[in-house]
Amino acid sequence: MAVAVEASGPIARLMQDLGKLPGIGPKTAERLTHYLLGASKAEVLALADAIRDVKESIHLCRECFNLTENELCAICADPKRDASVICVVEQHKDVAALERAAVYRGRYHVLLGRLAPLENIGPEQLTVDALLRRVERGGVNEIIMGTNPNLEGDGTALYVSNLLAKSAVKITRLARGLPSGSVLEFANQNMLADALEGRRAF
Ligand SMILES: [Zn+2]
Repeated sequence: MAVAVEASGPIARLMQDLGKLPGIGPKTAERLTHYLLGASKAEVLALADAIRDVKESIHLCRECFNLTENELCAICADPKRDASVICVVEQHKDVAALERAAVYRGRYHVLLGRLAPLENIGPEQLTVDALLRRVERGGVNEIIMGTNPNLEGDGTALYVSNLLAKSAVKITRLARGLPSGSVLEFANQNMLADALEGRRAF
């Protein structure tokens, strides 16, 4: 049941802030707010602490720009992960999706976005330079373009592969097992496994 709420009070503020989260409309925001109002203080403060902790303790891996609590993320720090293969993805959720599929044993490079000229997002806003430096340092044999199979993802992959064209590194692209225009984060495990296995020269 809807409860009259002071427009500027803490309840209204919580509802508004929850309503800004992706996938949460005003109705869900209201439901969550009433859930939190009814939950125990310990439970709600634990949630608040968890939210604060991710912002205060999580930063970007100095090597691949994945999220980590340490200098290096768990994947870069794992000697069992093949450092000679780097899968270039747009966002952290793409790493998460590929890791969930559990078929990839190489390392990653997170671009932190994609080229989007209409939004004024150019290469300088992405981690392209850091990727080039990783390749220059040597030890990398293959770069897999794992950007999303849509216009901007393809454009970004093309741009990066052109920059790497002079290097001896083999450049491949995830196969189109992924429906065109789709985004990696929504692909299921089998689709990602097929896309990786069927990757082809760029
Ligand atoms: Zn890393």
